Amino acid sequence: MLYKTKDLIEKSYDVIVVGGGLGGLTLANKMAKDGRSVLLLEAHNKLGGFATWFRRMSKNAHDEAHFFDVSLHGFPVGMIKTCRKYWSKEIADRIHQLKSVRYINPQFNVETDFTKEDFTKVLIEKFGVEKSTVDAFFTELQNMNFYDNSSMTNGELFQKFFPNRNDITRFLLEPIVYANGSNLEDPAISYGIVFSNFMSKGVYIFQGGTDTMINMMKEELLKNGVDIKLQSKVDRILVETVQVNGKETPRVFGVEVKGQKIFSKAVVSNANIKSTVQKMIGEEYFSADFVQKTKEVRLNTSSCQVYMGLKKDESLPFIGDLIFTSIDQDFSTDLILSPEVGSQTYSVYYPETRPHLKDHYAIVSSSNARYEDWKKLSPEDYEKQKAYVIERALIGLEKIVPDIRNKIDHIEAATPLTVERYTHHPMGTSFGTKFEGLPISMNLHKEIDGAFHAGSVGIIMSGWLGAANYGVIQAHEVDNYLTKLEKEELIKISDKKCIEGESHV
Ligand SMILES: Cc1cc2nc3c(=O)[nH]c(=O)nc-3n(C[C@H](O)[C@H](O)[C@H](O)COP(=O)(O)OP(=O)(O)OC[C@H]3O[C@@H](n4cnc5c(N)ncnc54)[C@H](O)[C@@H]3O)c2cc1C
Repeated sequence: MLYKTKDLIEKSYDVIVVGGGLGGLTLANKMAKDGRSVLLLEAHNKLGGFATWFRRMSKNAHDEAHFFDVSLHGFPVGMIKTCRKYWSKEIADRIHQLKSVRYINPQFNVETDFTKEDFTKVLIEKFGVEKSTVDAFFTELQNMNFYDNSSMTNGELFQKFFPNRNDITRFLLEPIVYANGSNLEDPAISYGIVFSNFMSKGVYIFQGGTDTMINMMKEELLKNGVDIKLQSKVDRILVETVQVNGKETPRVFGVEVKGQKIFSKAVVSNANIKSTVQKMIGEEYFSADFVQKTKEVRLNTSSCQVYMGLKKDESLPFIGDLIFTSIDQDFSTDLILSPEVGSQTYSVYYPETRPHLKDHYAIVSSSNARYEDWKKLSPEDYEKQKAYVIERALIGLEKIVPDIRNKIDHIEAATPLTVERYTHHPMGTSFGTKFEGLPISMNLHKEIDGAFHAGSVGIIMSGWLGAANYGVIQAHEVDNYLTKLEKEELIKISDKKCIEGESHV
């Protein structure tokens, strides 16, 4: 059922999921399908987390609206299988491939469908690399796996195969920098996994837009028996100390929302892992080592977006679906984060993205950004910097569509502070934490019985596919825990029966 904001929740649950991002949603759906009782609490007034959208009324046609997707730039083909298996065929069937990914920068101009075959061709024909080197590079990526303990960085990986080729590093790394905030110092393993995912069969998006997808998911959750309450920010995850095999053990028993306690056997947080440990649970329940390691987890960087909606009756020629542009002469992950906004990516949404709306065009430009650069600004400087980011988006776009300013009906910008305000992610991080966040997330339940986390961590568990798949992985963990609790309960009941039986004799 869908609770109303003022409803009190009196039932208790097998599992409470804190946050309705793609990780939390997928976990909730899987666990409910597997027969568990699930309550999903979301702070916002809609589900989706970063997988979100918003609507603005048109200035020149009052009955028309612009729809903007916040994070629907592209995801790997694996999302089709994940949606089919853990959501529904109807959801999976709406995923379709982008036709054209373009790069426009001072080093090269390339159009690709983002498949391994085409990348191989471009590396050989455009960048003059030997086929054997390209094959060896892809083989190295394919052989990387999550359990390897390799210390190789992205920078070292590119230097090994394409020494001193800044242009090739740009070609191979730039999309991944946008996709998950990676840099040259990050472990090559996270790049390898994400790049191989994308490289297998190109880039995909959801036809109908994020609103359609999240609404379909909401219907599916309700159909499978998940109870949902929106506008319910969880303040605390409740922990008590119990005796397990003669040892004092912290154990989760529910959550607190606006002073109301709701009880459950397990709690899964879909919020940021640092906030989960430090604020929602509280460091006092963890070992000193775990607290220290959590402190050391670095957050990923944030981003700015400029949302542009076209006037009714205006249209765009096909200019590509995803366009990586830069005016920076060389590529560096530092330059990509610069407030000068030398590099920006345009996602172009043609009418096929939302066929249910009439001739709906939108463009979203994204640039990576540092939270600190925005947080320090005075209110006046903040507005000025926002105007600058909008102007940069228009100048960049004019090079591709010269009369774009005349075509635009609505334009606005979001900054790292906007991201922070709407998602509660510290420092507006767009992709959770760096690699070291993953063991903290995965080992949470080893520190506190019944406490789990499923949300963007460690680069590979972020993005639409990474977050959804991580939800599935953690659903198995929670299920194992609940099964263990049930077995303990059965043993207790049978022990009690034995004792009662003896006393009767
Ligand atoms: C601008 C931008 C563009 C992106 N583009 C892409 C892209 O093109 N492709 C791609 O694959 N990925 C993209 N991503 C990343 C992707 O959207 C995310 O990695 C993914 O959606 C995160 O899912 P999640 O499960 O970690 O949860 P999140 O999306 O982080 O959601 C967490 C949810 O928990 C809720 N919450 C937090 N604290 C509480 C609390 N105390 N109580 C109740 N609820 C709480 C939040 O309100 C939120 O709804 C982008 C991200 C950003 C910011």
